[in-house]
Amino acid sequence: MRLESLKERKERLKELGEFILSKRDRIQAAVHQDLKKSFIEVDLSEIYPIVNEIRHTLEHLDEWTKPKKIDAPITYLGTRSEIKFEPKGVCLIIAPWNYPFSLCFGPLVSCLAAGNTAIIKPSEMTPATSQLIAELTNEFFEEDIVKVFEGDQQVSTELLQLPFDHIFFTGSPAVGKIIMRAAAENLTSVTLELGGKSPTIIDETALISTAAKRIAFGKFLNNGQTCIAPDYILVHERVKDDFIASLKKQVVEMFGEAGKLNEDSMSYSRIVSQKHFKRLNQMVENAISDGAKVEFSGPVNENTLFIHPVLLSNVSLQSKLMEEEIFGPVLPIVTYRSEEEVIDLINSRQKPLALYVFSERSSFQKKVLSSTSAGTACINECVIQFTHANLPFGGVNNSGIGKSHGHAGFLEFSNQKSVLKQLTRFSSMSMMYPPFRPRLKWMIDMMLKYF
Ligand code: NAD
Repeated sequence: MRLESLKERKERLKELGEFILSKRDRIQAAVHQDLKKSFIEVDLSEIYPIVNEIRHTLEHLDEWTKPKKIDAPITYLGTRSEIKFEPKGVCLIIAPWNYPFSLCFGPLVSCLAAGNTAIIKPSEMTPATSQLIAELTNEFFEEDIVKVFEGDQQVSTELLQLPFDHIFFTGSPAVGKIIMRAAAENLTSVTLELGGKSPTIIDETALISTAAKRIAFGKFLNNGQTCIAPDYILVHERVKDDFIASLKKQVVEMFGEAGKLNEDSMSYSRIVSQKHFKRLNQMVENAISDGAKVEFSGPVNENTLFIHPVLLSNVSLQSKLMEEEIFGPVLPIVTYRSEEEVIDLINSRQKPLALYVFSERSSFQKKVLSSTSAGTACINECVIQFTHANLPFGGVNNSGIGKSHGHAGFLEFSNQKSVLKQLTRFSSMSMMYPPFRPRLKWMIDMMLKYF
């Protein structure tokens, strides 16, 4: 493994930021080709998060890499200890398709900041971006620092045979299990950034139009193909109608042209593939045949992979729509009457990656936070926690293992080596050495009692 000075790492990261900005138009074009994301959305969700991650890292890397002094307990008098942050080594980064550029380069920034080298496997589902990532990586990095292997699960499977020092995977919980099993063969540490269903609660005190606006943005950004998008709404029955009316209005204002959302909208992405297009339409049809009511919908077009936002109420909790991660522009709305009902429903399911509460009552906000578990949570907001540089990001159990971004990302890619240095010729520990005499027993009795 190649060991680099802190200065070299910082220079590389700074140059990487400049390099990415110089390729902005090519990144916009590639992601647009794969997902029809508008150029502004590419700037916002693919380029800015990386540039921001690099800036934040450069600002703090001196402090993060400095060995951390550790106090000695009284029984360790005469020693000095510290934690050193050493690179783990050669890391594997496997990325999904929904933010195909930023989910490769985001973890890469933390990986390089911690002094590692990397192999990246982008998603095969977004081929234009995958090809661009390979090309840009070849141009910018020496081969023994970062190398890209393009391809599908076959390529991942082959890479997973290798004894990496860390694997950073972003993708579905189902594939996360495969990654963890493969990592176990080499006892390789893993970060698993997974997905699942993120519930969004709206109680009777919520500011409805503000909640609707924030949810419309968070849910329909990238056509709902966002791991932390509100997956389903739990709304108090007293404000359900208000909320639905407000959400419809916000969707049209954000994505519609001339009061109507159509295929010409420049702010609305497309579904990634026919497979997902069919899966989503099937989910909606099944929910409707199980009794769901369509509150809002519009054109769908298989050729252009366009699906108008769909709002459904009266959705059965047993329908696929309420059991599987939706990952598309379909939003089921479930009503509730009591706080306990909401908390029980969330606790009866896998722990979510994100949990959102819209409420003006702090007692309710606190109650939800303290009686449920989730990787991340927002009160009166959604989705924006992802790009907060000082907030660790990640799931819990089914929604993920480990944390990323900023300092948390640096730690994830570092081995925290505990180092103890004996400073004196006489070690207090030598009093514990055998042969074990009665005097030692007295000392141990004292230790058990007082230290
Ligand atoms: P996926 O799990 O199908 O694929 C992710 C990556 O794993 C791809 O590169 C793919 O080629 C590879 N892969 C697929 N099958 C594999 C196998 N059997 N063995 C080894 N590798 C395999 O996920 P996706 O469809 O690309 O992305 C959507 C999922 O990712 C959603 O569940 C979403 O919530 C999640 N996600 C999570 C985050 C996060 O930060 N937590 C971010 C984005 C997406």
